[in-house]
Amino acid sequence: MSSTFSLDPGADQLAVRDWLHGFAADVVRPAAAEWDEREETPWPIIQEAAKLGVYSLEFYAQQYFDPSGVGIPIAMEELFWGDAGIGLAIVGTTLGAVAVLANGTDEQIGTWTPQMFGTPDDVKLGAFCASEPDAGSDVASMRTRAVYDGAKDEWVLNGTKTWVTNGGIADVHVVVASVDPELGARGHASFVVPPGTPGLSQGQKFKKHGIRASHTAEVVLDGVRLPGSCLLGGKEKLDERLARAREGVRRSGRGNAAMATFEASRPAVGAQAVGVARAAYEVALDYATTREQFGRAIIENQGVAFQLADMKTRIDAARLLVWRASWMAANNQPFTAAEGSMSKLYAGETARFVTTQAMQLLGGNGFTREYPVERMHRDSAIYTVFEGTSEIQRLVIARAISGKPIR
Ligand SMILES: Cc1cc2nc3c(=O)[nH]c(=O)nc-3n(C[C@H](O)[C@H](O)[C@H](O)COP(=O)(O)OP(=O)(O)OC[C@H]3O[C@@H](n4cnc5c(N)ncnc54)[C@H](O)[C@@H]3O)c2cc1C
Repeated sequence: MSSTFSLDPGADQLAVRDWLHGFAADVVRPAAAEWDEREETPWPIIQEAAKLGVYSLEFYAQQYFDPSGVGIPIAMEELFWGDAGIGLAIVGTTLGAVAVLANGTDEQIGTWTPQMFGTPDDVKLGAFCASEPDAGSDVASMRTRAVYDGAKDEWVLNGTKTWVTNGGIADVHVVVASVDPELGARGHASFVVPPGTPGLSQGQKFKKHGIRASHTAEVVLDGVRLPGSCLLGGKEKLDERLARAREGVRRSGRGNAAMATFEASRPAVGAQAVGVARAAYEVALDYATTREQFGRAIIENQGVAFQLADMKTRIDAARLLVWRASWMAANNQPFTAAEGSMSKLYAGETARFVTTQAMQLLGGNGFTREYPVERMHRDSAIYTVFEGTSEIQRLVIARAISGKPIR
């Protein structure tokens, strides 16, 4: 269903926003410092989210298909306003679920996406494994191979994935592997690795600078054998796609289906960054109006007030870019200027700018863990790195607006 872009998302979405804000304020924010220090997956919070319906396939599907087009950004902004680490621990599963939705058959979607979430009494996780030690921004150079064993109708996967959110602790992993290295990114295919599959194991778990309540680890694939039915989209579709790609190579065309998928998913990450920025801005505004020096609130100094004016302006601009791109994705508008990448670039940079300013406005207190801006400042740093670094977003935008193969 298509919709007209509106700054009023409607009564239903406003109710969802208020409901999620309550969850973020009452459940997530009070737990944020503890789970940041523990650097562990906050299972009790995910379970609470599952009981309330915040962690469920139905909820994300409902937000995704909301006719306003901005259901997902509204949900992301509120959850990540609560805390980015716990927020990612709650929504990390959607990375795997979206990969199944984008590439799977109806039967595969119906089989695997519910298993990624489980039930409120038996919560499960999903993960999406694309990045590798030698293939981050240059994802086309990935080395993980999937080889077809025609006699058994099985795929055999070998390789090492890294930086995987929920890697090794997820029940269902979606793994991108190369089935034809000569074709680069067009020779990639996505596979579901079902729970308990032999050969998949967790490698190193990373100790991180921020979003520390979210589990990030390597995933090792050592002779992982999967039934043919685990190839997302099926073999026939893959063979057709590979044949077209081989034709494309000869005609020197570049496929852009993967880029279109990124354009649609990046605004959701931008919305997370808006949530982090808004949270830090609110703390800073409150502090600046109550902290007194030289006999007046520090906000009465133009130098302080103007900083807050810039923070608020950038946050609102970032949200507008995110909402525009989300609305475009929901309404199948062509991303002629890489508007999805634009929204993620600007929101990520805004989160870093705002949290840095917020720390400064809190003076010595901003430098301590007594106040949340120190954590928000650390958390914000991920938003210029994952889902494509800021440099890669600029590259994508520059290529889109110029039509040139900018490197
Ligand atoms: C906490 C966390 C969670 C993550 N979760 C996942 C996940 O769930 N699944 C997954 O698959 N991946 C995940 N990632 C991986 C993430 O997407 C990559 O880290 C990111 O794409 C960057 O890749 P890289 O780290 O290899 O950096 P590199 O690609 O090595 O980049 C290093 C630097 O070089 C710059 N650079 C590289 N190429 C160019 C260029 N052409 N022009 C200009 N500058 C360039 C980059 O911008 C960057 O500043 C996660 C990462 C982190 C840190």
